[in-house]
Amino acid sequence: MSLRFTHETLPQRVVFGSHAESLAPEVARLGTRPMVITTRPADVLPGALHHREVVMHVPVEVAERARRAAAEHDVDVLVSIGGGSTTGLAKAVALTTGLPIVAVPTTYAGSEATHIWGLTENGRKTTGPDPRVLPRTVIYDPGLTLSLPVDLSVASGLNALAHCVDAIWSPRADPINQALALAAIQALRSALPRIVREPRGLPGREEMLYGAHLAAVAFASAGSGLHHKICHVLGGMFDLPHAQTHAVVLPYVMALNVPAVPDRIADLLADLPDLWNAVGAPRALRDYGFREADIPAAVEAILPVVPPGNPVPVTAGNLTELLHRAWAGEEPT
Ligand code: NAD
Repeated sequence: MSLRFTHETLPQRVVFGSHAESLAPEVARLGTRPMVITTRPADVLPGALHHREVVMHVPVEVAERARRAAAEHDVDVLVSIGGGSTTGLAKAVALTTGLPIVAVPTTYAGSEATHIWGLTENGRKTTGPDPRVLPRTVIYDPGLTLSLPVDLSVASGLNALAHCVDAIWSPRADPINQALALAAIQALRSALPRIVREPRGLPGREEMLYGAHLAAVAFASAGSGLHHKICHVLGGMFDLPHAQTHAVVLPYVMALNVPAVPDRIADLLADLPDLWNAVGAPRALRDYGFREADIPAAVEAILPVVPPGNPVPVTAGNLTELLHRAWAGEEPT
């Protein structure tokens, strides 16, 4: 027997459809005193407590205020409606309270399908896995992503693509999460140009959200590969924007790793880099505040966290070259 692996599937209820129809009944399955975390101006659940202070990367003081609000109002279920930052705040509350979350994502970041939390203190972001933060229910309503501007949709969609591509060579890659990753790649490579062509078209948004979900499930199961380790360090040390950093870095990690993956998979990824030009994707880290002088410090911070089993051995030399090209937006090689 040559097929040997251990795969864990995370327990989660997934509803694809209209949040207007599904939200109230899905929340009622889990509690009666919801706290809705959202930056949307209108109240989404009449009568519910609405908490609107959301900050990217979840500073601990922001998490503390949300936890206090939940305790003061004796909340028994959390509802997050927003991008990864909003989901992240709900996760921070669930981490210490164990409250269930109903997540309604409005970007393609995929946090709603993972059991990874993140908190930032004194400029340092810490992340970790915990089953309590995995939303019990996710409601995917593509209509909510229609308002996401094209450039953010592209960056966020490429962030989703990074989840599934990186899952292919992650430390816990197995045939099940690999199958999900490959299905996600197919959906996302089709959806990205559709959204650029027709930003107000629901079918493209639907396909992207579906791909983003599969990608996040694959990623949650497979764990962080080289790409995520690089982006985590860059985001944390240099305060770079999350989705855009992922979008810029991915082609360079692919250029490094794809030549060393099995032909069957390399063939499926072969024309993926063309997508970046086709959708006008972000191309250079220097456009987002990363400086050439930052490269040596970034290399020093990334090398110790390179995941074991990366298809290509990572050295100070090839990492410096990768970051230099990504900084300048040079052709990935
Ligand atoms: P975000 O949630 O900060 O949203 C980006 C911007 O888009 C914000 O200004 C937001 O208000 C706006 N926005 C969101 N949805 C919109 C919509 N439908 N229409 C118009 N504007 C909209 O960014 P993000 O990229 O979704 O999430 C990034 C955060 O999520 C980071 O902190 C990252 O670390 C975290 N994340 C965590 C995981 C995980 O598994 N834990 C996975 C992915 C991302």
